[in-house]
Amino acid sequence: MLKGKNAVVTGSTSGIGLAIARAYASKGMNVTINGFGDAAAIEAERAKITADFGVQAAYSGADMSKAAEIAQMIADAEKRFGSVDVLVNNAGIQFVSPVEEFPLEKWDQIIAINLSAAFHAIRAAVPGMKARKWGRIINTASAHALVASPFKSAYVAAKHGIAGLTKTVALETAQFGITVNAICPGYVWTPLVEKQIPETMKARGLTEEQVKKDVLLAAQPTKEFVTVEQVAAFACFLATDEAASITGAILPIDGGWTAE
Ligand code: NAD
Repeated sequence: MLKGKNAVVTGSTSGIGLAIARAYASKGMNVTINGFGDAAAIEAERAKITADFGVQAAYSGADMSKAAEIAQMIADAEKRFGSVDVLVNNAGIQFVSPVEEFPLEKWDQIIAINLSAAFHAIRAAVPGMKARKWGRIINTASAHALVASPFKSAYVAAKHGIAGLTKTVALETAQFGITVNAICPGYVWTPLVEKQIPETMKARGLTEEQVKKDVLLAAQPTKEFVTVEQVAAFACFLATDEAASITGAILPIDGGWTAE
């Protein structure tokens, strides 16, 4: 059902995005991957997608904090593959600090990458989806789109913003065969989580083990990290025709975190 469709997954050189891009490719979809990192390592990941699954894979180095580069990424993908059928707005960064010390440039950067980038990509991709009367937009939000944690003001604000953007665009596109949903993972073991451990140790005065057990997994009733494969499988289902009635939904995949 997904074979031959074309996807753009932002922030897919690592973590959740890479798992989603590979899962889509495994279903026969052509993918555009995006994100930062070592050029040779990114090229190796791109080539591995083609080799493993026999689909086409392209790389866009567009910076998700730059509106013009985001629009160009969508235009390039449409030109290369003929369409952008599935758009996954996944790129995201984190910064942990008390609000009164929160660096101004970190606030601006997080709002740009975690929120505004999704708007720019959606704005560029929706005309083609409307014309073809089919599209899937999946925004990687977070449990932090539904609940807050201290010291993450920019991230929580951006993720709550993504929830509002998701619902709004879902209403605007509902009669065009397009669905727009937000996936809300709890803690997934990826470089993003690993990197915030030293910052959280500093902000809360805790050891590494205390941060993992008492801060991260304390919120998650299963006491297990969510896996990137679980998030990717969910993103695959949302792209299918069976998921056509799921739209405007803010969907937790968080081991019960937001049930509390
Ligand atoms: P990650 O650090 O492994 O991956 C982030 C990706 O975004 C990388 O490919 C990186 O290069 C890319 N990126 C960062 N800044 C960019 C920019 N300016 N332009 C283009 N690409 C950029 O992190 P992850 O954990 O896989 O996070 C992916 C998404 O999932 C984020 O939106 C994050 O907020 C969300 N999320 C993660 C968790 C978790 O526990 N890991 C939980 C909930 C939500």
